[in-house]
Amino acid sequence: MAVSYSRLFFLPCLLILLVFFSCSLQNDGDDDIRILPGYIEEELVAFTIRAPLITELRITGYSSGPVSYPIYALKMTDNPQEQENEPEIQFTGGIHGNEQLSCIMVLRMIEYMIDLYEEDDPVITGIINNSELHFSPVLNPYGLSRDERYNANSVDLNRNFSWAWVDGLFHGDAPIDQPESQAIRDDALEHPYVLAVHGHTGAACINTLWDYIGTTKSSGTPSTYTIDDFISLYLPSYPFISEEALHYKNTVNAAGDDGFWMTEGYDWYAAFGTLQDWMYGVRGAIAYTLEYDLSSGHTLLYEELFQEVFDNHKDALIDLFIDARKGISGIITGSGELPVDAKVEVTTVTKSVYCDPVTFSPFCFTDPDAGDYHLPVQPGTYNLEITADGYLPETINGIVVPEETGIVIRNIQLTPGKGEKSPLFMPPEIPADNIPPDLREE
Ligand SMILES: [Zn+2]
Repeated sequence: MAVSYSRLFFLPCLLILLVFFSCSLQNDGDDDIRILPGYIEEELVAFTIRAPLITELRITGYSSGPVSYPIYALKMTDNPQEQENEPEIQFTGGIHGNEQLSCIMVLRMIEYMIDLYEEDDPVITGIINNSELHFSPVLNPYGLSRDERYNANSVDLNRNFSWAWVDGLFHGDAPIDQPESQAIRDDALEHPYVLAVHGHTGAACINTLWDYIGTTKSSGTPSTYTIDDFISLYLPSYPFISEEALHYKNTVNAAGDDGFWMTEGYDWYAAFGTLQDWMYGVRGAIAYTLEYDLSSGHTLLYEELFQEVFDNHKDALIDLFIDARKGISGIITGSGELPVDAKVEVTTVTKSVYCDPVTFSPFCFTDPDAGDYHLPVQPGTYNLEITADGYLPETINGIVVPEETGIVIRNIQLTPGKGEKSPLFMPPEIPADNIPPDLREE
């Protein structure tokens, strides 16, 4: 469970933590100065003090290791204490603790958005007023403290998730058996993210679905799956995901990074149990793994580089945040017009994924506090099925997402009855033995 605090209670606690983790920078010699978890904390607290009306800080969990570092998420929206009818967006860094640039990028984005909000910039103000952003600069604070990729148990957290998890040297003993992965999972179960962007560095590309399956690996090894199989794996979400990724790439290229490219996970290299695949496969979020730059770099020495990378990416990121509002959205209510904890699924083009008996199509969950749902799909006509415990399943046909705006609002009233959430409400996690052997080696 995420831990929420009122600001009055939270700030004094944070000040105590800050004293505890008072060291925020480390000098490794040769002016190689890097950041520590305390630096992230100081920055996040400073943001909440500077912009109290649009921010709220929470702890989503604690790290592995002898020191339990808190894992933070900073929520940015108007009325941060309320659950409103707004899409939720996740932007993270530092799941690999030695990729500091990814932590800095999240901090700089928070700062940039607060700067522009204070200047009444209409675009940024529109995003803050109409969505909920959740920023986690470092998902692996232990790794950050040691400048290591892994957590304290030598697990690569980006191989520890339960979508197509396989046994492996740095994968953990079981899917989501690490405290950091559990914190990420619990936070995502509480917040139905529409868009999840996970920052990395060491390469320069936007990587998208799937990491665990594709047609051809970079080594040139073809799998037994045809291009038709491959396309069907992405199903109707794929055009949305792919077009957004292409737009992102083009925007970064235009901003000055000519070498930035896009790829589809497995076609670059196979990876199993990744956060990106889990976020889409289990939670329905449009998910990207963002690799910013060839360097991983340590912070202060390269401030100019970080500024340049941020400048190359900021407009592309902002466009992603804006587009998270596209598709079909609305509020689902039940008896007494109360919000309902429901699942919304596109039924128009449901196809079977190669992993029997799992079927897959774009889906999302309501935020049970407000009953709002946000299903990112391209312009077109869709049929939706809504399922919820205690309500009759509802099918709504022929919802048109218009070309002009890409947005349609459809509020839905459910009828009480003997209904259950669809089986996919329980995550359709793909077990390792359902991954064909020719795809399994990493
Ligand atoms: Zn990484």
